[in-house]
Amino acid sequence: MPGGRAAKFEKDGFMFDMGPSWYWMPDVFERFFANFNTIPADHYSLQRLDPSYRVFWQSATEDIPATFGELKTLFDDIEPGAGTRLEDFLAQAAEKYKISMEKLVYRPSLSLSEYINTQTLSSLFRLDLFGSVHTHVRKYFTDPRLLQLVEFPILFLGALPQNTPSLYTLMNHADMTLGTWYPKGGMYKVVEGIYRLALSLGVEFSFQNEVISMELRGSSVSRLITARGEYEADSVIAACDYQHAEQLLPQEYRNYSNNYWQSRKMSPSALVYYVGLNKKVDALEHHNLFFDASFADHANALYSNPAWPADPLMYVCCPSRTDETVAPAGCENLFILIPTPPGLQDTPGIRDQYFDIAMRRIEKRTGTNIRENIVLKRSYAHNDFITDYHSFKGNAYGLANTLGQTAILKPSIRNKKVSNLWYAGQLTVPGPGLPPALISGEIVARQVLKNIQKKAIAA
Ligand SMILES: Cc1cc2nc3c(=O)[nH]c(=O)nc-3n(C[C@H](O)[C@H](O)[C@H](O)COP(=O)(O)OP(=O)(O)OC[C@H]3O[C@@H](n4cnc5c(N)ncnc54)[C@H](O)[C@@H]3O)c2cc1C
Repeated sequence: MPGGRAAKFEKDGFMFDMGPSWYWMPDVFERFFANFNTIPADHYSLQRLDPSYRVFWQSATEDIPATFGELKTLFDDIEPGAGTRLEDFLAQAAEKYKISMEKLVYRPSLSLSEYINTQTLSSLFRLDLFGSVHTHVRKYFTDPRLLQLVEFPILFLGALPQNTPSLYTLMNHADMTLGTWYPKGGMYKVVEGIYRLALSLGVEFSFQNEVISMELRGSSVSRLITARGEYEADSVIAACDYQHAEQLLPQEYRNYSNNYWQSRKMSPSALVYYVGLNKKVDALEHHNLFFDASFADHANALYSNPAWPADPLMYVCCPSRTDETVAPAGCENLFILIPTPPGLQDTPGIRDQYFDIAMRRIEKRTGTNIRENIVLKRSYAHNDFITDYHSFKGNAYGLANTLGQTAILKPSIRNKKVSNLWYAGQLTVPGPGLPPALISGEIVARQVLKNIQKKAIAA
């Protein structure tokens, strides 16, 4: 089906988004559709969620409001004076976001020279872009709950706040200022919108038809060999997992060696459960963060000593709280995600064990029995990512966004040895997430067009 990791799973009146559930950075989707003279509202109907999400701390539950005034009050209530500091913090995050969008993320990152202009460089230094998120946020806040709130978006980026450049507090602008949105009917509506738009523009799709190898003539790909046939190729954009795409080429034409991939820092994988309940759970919001376990212990299991986390943090999405179309009447649609390190052994026993942990935690914090109300259950983890997506080490979100894996230090969009082969998607620039995946497509499409024009002029 179209969508890749943004897949859907429908059964017995439930509609589960299998991957993404947070619609952030609406401006990126607007820009994407504007490229085709259309707007998101032509394809799906968006609503801003308020509260943006609910957080279950160990000793309390807090709703994170969408409006800035209420958010500021919440920060002040938790830590006197933090509201005003939040204003300063978000003003800087907004500037980082602006600089990134205007000067960084839409660059192909083929050469350092793209970034060397005085204005960009002086902005980068002025905004303390090369410090870490960890250090940066501690200049503003001290309460551990506030620190968790401002550091949580970094979890999407697949590295510890200590190892993530402070540039990425731009994600706080995305979270707290631009807001958390939801397309009615689920995230898959976005995929359907893009798919229908592509069809209307004459794109042809071939599903369930895996590329097995790329055939070369000279230093160009001439043909794609697939499970169901062969396709002549003028230009090829490999938008599947980068490491896998390289395996489809003879070794000497690959951009990167096996050692290179082994030395990459991957972002976490995920253990996900899709659960249908035949009752409502009023204590849940649309997005729920279970931060009632030790962040440090879970982070240690994710990044320092890879292992199944003993007492995991969890994310629970319950879109049926705000959208009656994704579950039958009186039912609840739960998506439960536990971040896990890539490369672990994934067994049915472990999946059952963590399901129990998740159920017990949700029951305890919502004060409601739910286990006896389960009418549908499916799990998804490492092995599924590998089978369905050829995911390297079973990763869910590609490479970690560390400084050493940012911009020109990411796997290149261009194959340096094959003149008409390009790479797009979450393993190349700008990185993981739906908005970056769209940006990546735009960057590569522009390069391919440029290349074709260059060849036409030369001919
Ligand atoms: C559980 C989960 C939750 C997430 N949550 C969010 C979120 O809330 N918000 C957000 O913005 N992002 C989220 N993400 C990240 C986001 O989904 C991804 O970054 C994005 O979808 C990646 O898109 P892509 O096009 O790079 O790759 P993919 O979506 O993986 O697409 C690659 C496609 O290539 C296909 N393919 C692989 N090998 C071959 C082959 N040999 N031949 C032909 N086709 C092949 C695959 O089957 C797949 O369809 C989440 C991801 C996961 C897994």
